[in-house]
Amino acid sequence: MSAALPSVSRAHALRRPSLKDYSRTALRERFAARGWPAYRADQVMDWLYRSDVDSIEAMTNLPATLRSEIAEAFDVGGLEVETTRTSVDGTQKLLLAAADGARIEAVLIPEERRHTLCLSTQVGCPLTCDFCATGALGFTRNLTTGEILDQVLEARRRLPPGETLTNVVFMGMGEPLLNLPAVSEAIRVLVDPKALGLAPRRVTVSTAGVLPQIGPLLEVAPIHLAVSLHATTDAVRDVLVPLNKRFPIDALLRTLREDPNIHRRRPVFFEYTLMEDVNDSIEDARRLPGLLRGIPSKVNVIPMNPHADAPYRPPRPEVVDRFTAALHAAGVRVTLRRDRGRDIDAACGQLANRVAKGAANANPTGDVGPADSAD
Ligand code: SF4
Repeated sequence: MSAALPSVSRAHALRRPSLKDYSRTALRERFAARGWPAYRADQVMDWLYRSDVDSIEAMTNLPATLRSEIAEAFDVGGLEVETTRTSVDGTQKLLLAAADGARIEAVLIPEERRHTLCLSTQVGCPLTCDFCATGALGFTRNLTTGEILDQVLEARRRLPPGETLTNVVFMGMGEPLLNLPAVSEAIRVLVDPKALGLAPRRVTVSTAGVLPQIGPLLEVAPIHLAVSLHATTDAVRDVLVPLNKRFPIDALLRTLREDPNIHRRRPVFFEYTLMEDVNDSIEDARRLPGLLRGIPSKVNVIPMNPHADAPYRPPRPEVVDRFTAALHAAGVRVTLRRDRGRDIDAACGQLANRVAKGAANANPTGDVGPADSAD
């Protein structure tokens, strides 16, 4: 008989579910279905998210027989840290491996009064946006809820003592709305006051515009929605974000305008990656406010973080200034997002892509310290 290893997706299908794959309500139901008291699920949630234990054996307020029954049906998940890169600005990029060897990225961004984690929801991404390193990786599979939450736990372990993770953004590898069931469960655990305890307004989920899933996502909790817009015409967006051919700008904006969960206290964050001579003209800056009319919103302008897998570059600083000034003048709430971690391949998919091509193997120990010595 062949001794071939199972493929990534087959190995994944064979695993036991993680206890972290479930929100509190779902875990209570799973426990009840097996005849275990529902309050035991609450105790397990405490161990997972408050005490951060990595084994069922360590859950010592559960009877030993119950612990072994739980261990037969579930595991506790966990991701292996393969590589950590720390930028001169403090941004940490983690390359993480799942049990089946699939690699994903998470980026921890320290700022003066907050710590933000950018996490992944898929291994690769099926949407092939033209400017994105993750799109160039192709798509392998969806992450489980447990794998999404393990990124949060891993990031939390890296914070200075006494500090907490304040913000989570679903903007890493993958399109979250193509993995909505797992993303929704992860959000429930993130905002569960007795689990990870984030305020819903501190959670942001980004989409390229999977219209049918926007309404259901916004029903999960009062989180924020970010939309990767990146263009003001369908001709340009069709190239940058091919999903636009299915859900064009007009339909996307109409969906947002009509969604009852989008209002002044819960505006949409439009992401607009500025690329030289592609979407940075003064005509674009003048068209954008008209497109956004009637949608409570903020625009994040992000000069392109260049990488080898895309032919795009950031505009010159004066062009960036002209673009943002035109938006300001038109009454648009706009922020220019500072470039974080450019020296460590911090844009989504860049590090995994580099590792996939073997370029990171020069540093098998992982930690690379300050970025100027990163490569
Ligand atoms: S930008 Fe986002 S949606 Fe587009 S290919 Fe990259 S990860 Fe996927």
